[in-house]
Amino acid sequence: MEPMQKSYKLLVAGKWIEDSSTLPVIDKYTGEVIGNVPVASRDTVERAISAAHGAFPSYSRTPAHKRFRILERTAQLLDTYQEEIATLICREAGKAWKYSIGEVARGVETFQFSAEEAKRLHGETVPMDASAAGEGRIGFYLRSPVGVVAAITPFNFPLNLVAHKVGPGLAAGNTIVLKPASTTPLTAIRLGEILVEAGLPPGAFNIVVGPGASVGDWLVTDPRVSKVSFTGSPPVGETIIRRAGLKKVTLELGNNSGTIIEPDANLDAAVPRCVMSGFANSGQVCISLQRLFVHQAIAPEFTRRFIDATAKLKVGNPLDKDCDVGPMIDEAEAKRAEAWVSEAVSEGARVLIGGNREGSLFYPTVLSNVRPDMKVMCAEAFAPLVSIYTYENFEAAVRMLEDSPYGLQAGIYTSDIRKAFYAVDQINAGGIMINDTSIFRVDHMPYGGNKMSGLGREGVRFAIDEMTNIKMVVIKP
Ligand code: NAP
Repeated sequence: MEPMQKSYKLLVAGKWIEDSSTLPVIDKYTGEVIGNVPVASRDTVERAISAAHGAFPSYSRTPAHKRFRILERTAQLLDTYQEEIATLICREAGKAWKYSIGEVARGVETFQFSAEEAKRLHGETVPMDASAAGEGRIGFYLRSPVGVVAAITPFNFPLNLVAHKVGPGLAAGNTIVLKPASTTPLTAIRLGEILVEAGLPPGAFNIVVGPGASVGDWLVTDPRVSKVSFTGSPPVGETIIRRAGLKKVTLELGNNSGTIIEPDANLDAAVPRCVMSGFANSGQVCISLQRLFVHQAIAPEFTRRFIDATAKLKVGNPLDKDCDVGPMIDEAEAKRAEAWVSEAVSEGARVLIGGNREGSLFYPTVLSNVRPDMKVMCAEAFAPLVSIYTYENFEAAVRMLEDSPYGLQAGIYTSDIRKAFYAVDQINAGGIMINDTSIFRVDHMPYGGNKMSGLGREGVRFAIDEMTNIKMVVIKP
């Protein structure tokens, strides 16, 4: 592997700039420094917001066909550079190659969908004469971009979760200041280079890097920012909504995702899918399978097959093409997962496989004998850690899955449509997957959480709804 270390720059007003201090970005598997990134000063953040604010009047009037072309070109370039970008994701996030290359493919689609949606910013007519006071008038509404969007993103999908804010934001005619996670800013900076190469005008997209509590907060509290689009942890989401004031806010937060396996489930399909759902990206996915509710009639067979398949996962260097599970984002997170397992064991849980750690590698871990009040069940694990709960009664299992402060996505495997619809009816979540786990997502479907899992929806068209204002026009002829 050729050395990757490079001095990166921030994108402000169409120029690549340095700042007084820098932040090293490390390869999460080797610990090697792979890039140095400027930390944005208050002045740099000020200039980035000013640039986005200044570019808005002209960018928001860029015709839809031109916005389409820029975003379509961005998708093409991402596809052209897919191996290089996957390598960057693999190294800065520690994500196994197969999932890194998969993330680039999804990023390409997210930009393609965004390009297409740029041409579909429809309003509709309103039948004004439904009210006597509206008789004789013609009414319709338009969708207009909100202005400057502050996009704040987490470490676990350094490309596609950025794409979910940048693609729809630019499609709708907004200008953007992005603050990616401090541990994984390189992919976002590479995306900035690609947007420039695709022809995006200066100021329409700006990148600042630095600590959330300073750089992130300066964005959230600036009155020139009209919308904050945040993906990350619930505590930071709560801080943001308190600090943002009168702005539109979208929050994509965490979950302790559950999936139910009924006795009539197709285990040949369910077992491998559950293994992937629990351990892909070392369980650091907001819809990772964490709580598995398995009916007692099939629990012994399901558990045996689940453990056998988990034992075959290849753990180690994420750059290896056949690696399944790479390191967690840092050693502190791996130690946290280890401590959660020890706590569960001290409360009566059994480790069926895993529980061990080497530095930031936390081995795929499966627990049984768990109770709903254990931390591994009731809080978000965000680690390669799956707990199996054996149940007797289907309705009770649905109640238990639903008994969570979170509500992002859930899954149920059954061949009985009545049970599937019972779960759809009873579970208060943004998405319910029938014959799949909580992890299923494609990038054009509405996606987002209820309860503590967030506010608003992403999924390109739905993100555009949240990044535009309705402007009503009424004509009295
Ligand atoms: P995080 O710690 O909340 O950080 C997310 C982003 O917020 C980072 O860029 C961070 O900057 C920034 N930030 C931190 N404090 C801030 C503040 N006071 N004001 C403004 N910005 C601030 O989350 P993470 O650990 O990167 O990601 C894991 C979490 O994200 C999990 O809870 C996961 O479930 C959730 N997630 C949700 C979705 C979804 O779509 N629902 C998708 C992926 C992940 P620094 O990096 O500098 O700290």
